[in-house]
Amino acid sequence: MKLQKSELPALLERIYSEVTPLYGVGKTADYIPPLSRVNPRQFGMAIRFVDGDEFTVGQASTPFSIQSISKLFALMLALDIVGDDLWKRVGREPSGMRFNSLLQLENENGIPRNPFINAGAIVVTDTIVNHSASPVKRLEQFMASLSGNVFNRYDPEVYVAEARTGYRNAAIANLLKALGNLEGEVDVVLDSYYKQCSMTMSCLDLARATESLANKGKSSFRTQFHGERMDKRVNALMLTCGLYDAAGNFAYQVGLPAKSGVGGGIVAVLPGYFSVAVWSPELDNYGNSVLGQKALELLTHYTSSSIF
Ligand code: GLN
Repeated sequence: MKLQKSELPALLERIYSEVTPLYGVGKTADYIPPLSRVNPRQFGMAIRFVDGDEFTVGQASTPFSIQSISKLFALMLALDIVGDDLWKRVGREPSGMRFNSLLQLENENGIPRNPFINAGAIVVTDTIVNHSASPVKRLEQFMASLSGNVFNRYDPEVYVAEARTGYRNAAIANLLKALGNLEGEVDVVLDSYYKQCSMTMSCLDLARATESLANKGKSSFRTQFHGERMDKRVNALMLTCGLYDAAGNFAYQVGLPAKSGVGGGIVAVLPGYFSVAVWSPELDNYGNSVLGQKALELLTHYTSSSIF
């Protein structure tokens, strides 16, 4: 990596100024009012090195709706609970389809391609629901234990809107149930899934919460996971599936394992060095933040810091 930490504040400012001309290129998620109301012209970025040094620019401490980034934490928790048994019910291959597509699910007998598309995430949530007295509390506590921030909770307003408009997710959950890959009741699992999508965190929270993925499973805020080499396995999935049907292009442009959400956040890790989170609400057609992707591309370009 061609990077002195002392250069980072200036580098982050440079990235900030180079991505803001892209305001207006994408579009804020509009499927629920709480997301469409968010001021689109916001940008934040936080980078945390494995030695604990942190650098930020823009609105790095502003909480936002993490949406599908929650699928990452749900996966880590489910792996912590059931280990490799999870893979009897979810695949580990890119889908090449939109995150909320139903097309493959029936053809592939109810086994979702991976844990980061909605179908896979709903199975992951089902696993947590069936092993927890209070699944949402457990996930909130898990995330707060990773980020060190007890205010990482779900936003009730986003949750109600998710539940009210979740027709596709309801269709996915019903199809999973019909095909024998959902243990819990559809409504119960969906309720937990919507709450998980509604979790609120900042870039700084996210960079801290993903430290273990950059630091061989070690986290400053939490003791070791039970699962062996969680970091290796989760990072591989993020690289191949973390940005849905745009994962290949993201790997090409940025070259870091990452997970995005339609709230405009993206987390990425350079194993052995740092975790980084960016947020900017305007999305491209794949549902990924336009400025966020560009900022990560510039970061890895200027610092020669991709995994390749
Ligand atoms: N709540 C959204 C959904 O379930 C999350 C999608 C996303 O962030 N890609 O459809």
